[in-house]
Amino acid sequence: MRKPIIAGNWKMYKSFDEAVEFVEAVREAVPSEEKVDAVVCAPAIYLPTLVDIATETDLAIGAQNMHFEEEGAFTGEISPAQLASIHVDYVILGHSERRELFNETDEAVNKKVKAALAHGIVPIICCGETLEEREAGNTEAKVSGQIRAALEGFSADEVAHMVLAYEPIWAIGTGKTATADDANQVCGAIRDVVKELYGAETAEAIRIQYGGSVKPENIVELLSKEHIDGALVGGASLQVESYLKLLEAG
Ligand code: 13P
Repeated sequence: MRKPIIAGNWKMYKSFDEAVEFVEAVREAVPSEEKVDAVVCAPAIYLPTLVDIATETDLAIGAQNMHFEEEGAFTGEISPAQLASIHVDYVILGHSERRELFNETDEAVNKKVKAALAHGIVPIICCGETLEEREAGNTEAKVSGQIRAALEGFSADEVAHMVLAYEPIWAIGTGKTATADDANQVCGAIRDVVKELYGAETAEAIRIQYGGSVKPENIVELLSKEHIDGALVGGASLQVESYLKLLEAG
């Protein structure tokens, strides 16, 4: 059995005070990490403080992006070594907003995954199709291409500990969720790609989240599906009450 992983992606929301207040409110209330992995991926400038507040609780803190280089003249970027130095546990990589708005390529995502692993940070690797791609019947081709590229060049054991996130772009922030069956079908197709590349044991072990308008009202059905092992949640992860409800479903 794969342990569910529910991760909030705050994107570019919340003031510093709001972020601190949120983590202080949830840190003792999150379910045991034996039951569910609870993660909050916060804006980078808040991370050291939030990691500190969440220390020795069952809440893990993640980043939303990072560069793949170790160090150097990369104005405005944050390196994996820097994230590791403040004890960040997770990093979201290849989110569709970064791919679309900041020109992040499959190749860059692959380099970032390598860099995250080199520093002991668990990558949450995102993939997903546009509405046009879905309507043209290209969902699985798009998603499996992104996953193949991201997972190139690892050992089976490394892959088994990664997290994948299927986020159809048309479902992000729109209130439109993929049906649980559709989401499960694509997550199953992703698992098949992992199986083809790294074998059945790895495919059984890797966790695959669904993301896109997940909320307390629909998470239970999504998580009941065979191939959906968790959720990557934007809007509904911003309020303490709904975040805790999402975790309860895990
Ligand atoms: P919403 O939950 O707001 O649709 O965002 C999904 C997402 O992009 C999480 O990474």
